[in-house]
Amino acid sequence: MAAPVSVLIVEDEPAILELVAINLEHAGFAPLRAASAEDAARLLRQRLPEVALIDWMLPGQSGLALARRLRADVRTRELPIIFLTARTEEDAKVAALEAGADDYLTKPFSARELVARIRALLRRRAPQL
Ligand code: CA
Repeated sequence: MAAPVSVLIVEDEPAILELVAINLEHAGFAPLRAASAEDAARLLRQRLPEVALIDWMLPGQSGLALARRLRADVRTRELPIIFLTARTEEDAKVAALEAGADDYLTKPFSARELVARIRALLRRRAPQL
């Protein structure tokens, strides 16, 4: 059996982090948890997940700054990124996409939709064999 797809979750609210992680586990993914951009950067130095879910509002460096950093680094340039945020205005969505996000989910979101979007993103990224 193939190893489960690892998904990095960067979210500072422990309840949301845990909820997302549990839902991803149920869907067959291997969640990696980070509570801040700094946490995520540390984790990314050790291993590269297949997808990253990034909350916009984080303590310290914002999710937006983290996304820009990931896009600027040759190692994480291609990492699929989905933004998770409570911000619904058009400007925020545009800023997230311009910072390098591949997709965008506004809170509250359903676990089903999140899983479907991760799968869609992975389909687009999968190499043609
Ligand atoms: Ca947050």
